[in-house]
Amino acid sequence: MQKLSIIIPMYNEEESLSYLYERLLSLSKKLENYELEILFVNDGSTDNSLEIVKKFREKDKRVCYINLSRNFGKEIAMGAAFDFVTGDAVVIMDADLQDPPELVLEMLKHYECGYDDVYAKRKSRNGETFLKKFTSKVFYKILQCIASVEIQKDTGDFRLLSRRAVDALRSFPEKQRYTKGMFSLIGFKKKAVYFDRDPRIAGTTKWNYFKLIDLAIEGILSFTIVPLRLASFTGIMLSFISFIYMSIVFGKTIICGVETPGYASIICIMLFLGGIQLIFLGIIGEYLGRIFIEVKQRPLYFVEEYCGSEEVKIKDKV
Ligand code: UDP
Ligand code: MG
Repeated sequence: MQKLSIIIPMYNEEESLSYLYERLLSLSKKLENYELEILFVNDGSTDNSLEIVKKFREKDKRVCYINLSRNFGKEIAMGAAFDFVTGDAVVIMDADLQDPPELVLEMLKHYECGYDDVYAKRKSRNGETFLKKFTSKVFYKILQCIASVEIQKDTGDFRLLSRRAVDALRSFPEKQRYTKGMFSLIGFKKKAVYFDRDPRIAGTTKWNYFKLIDLAIEGILSFTIVPLRLASFTGIMLSFISFIYMSIVFGKTIICGVETPGYASIICIMLFLGGIQLIFLGIIGEYLGRIFIEVKQRPLYFVEEYCGSEEVKIKDKV
């Protein structure tokens, strides 16, 4: 019998958990050919989320949990889950029921046909602001233009992965993670299933615009060096234009003699070039900062407590 694992990163989700668990229970009744593991990753919640999960565990040994030592963010919480999950097929799902658990049945059908990454594509996104939908659309357009990997549109982390896809994801050593791009990088056979994204069942979103901008910059910088190329290209263009302008000024001075006016143009050019230089210095700095973080080789996360499959303990991860 194959094992299906559902991993659920959670950060202060006490209000949604009981609804989620109920939906998962009704899903489990429909899973005839699979053994189930539900792996909650507590990402440093400050509310009662962990206690609630522990209560589920007391009654139901299919529920497992990892308690991270603090809040590391969803990307790293997923990374931790990949290390601890034991299933042959692994589903990533949000704790707020924005990802309908029933869709897993459809995903499994494709998994059984040999697909390694069955991702859920949103037909609609209810309960999200116009601004969020618009900015995310613009971001993915830009990313698609400049990054060399194809990133699926209207797709989040909700997906089913085969064991070999999970192992591939685990082999990425990077500390700054943009998992959505990594799903594309690993390749394997992919298949979309469609769903309507519901609003959150309870609680509020854990993302604010600062975090989203951070994720967006991460997405671009960790998948492409096009911004650096742009810097070189702009530099070459500007040098070329300056050279032509210099020749004109030089020629004019030789033919017509010294010309005194020019204060305004010099100031404009200086400010413009100063601005361009600072922007590109910033871009180089962003990459340099990432190199700095990677070379430190710090561990990705720390686990305070793990409760679940014996297999994992044997592997000596905790
Ligand atoms: N989450 C997490 N760590 C964080 C932020 C979020 O584990 O630092 C979890 C959160 O509990 C939820 C999922 O990631 O299960 C998606 O978060 P959220 O619903 O806030 O994002 P949105 O759906 O609004 O993009
Ligand atoms: Mg959500």
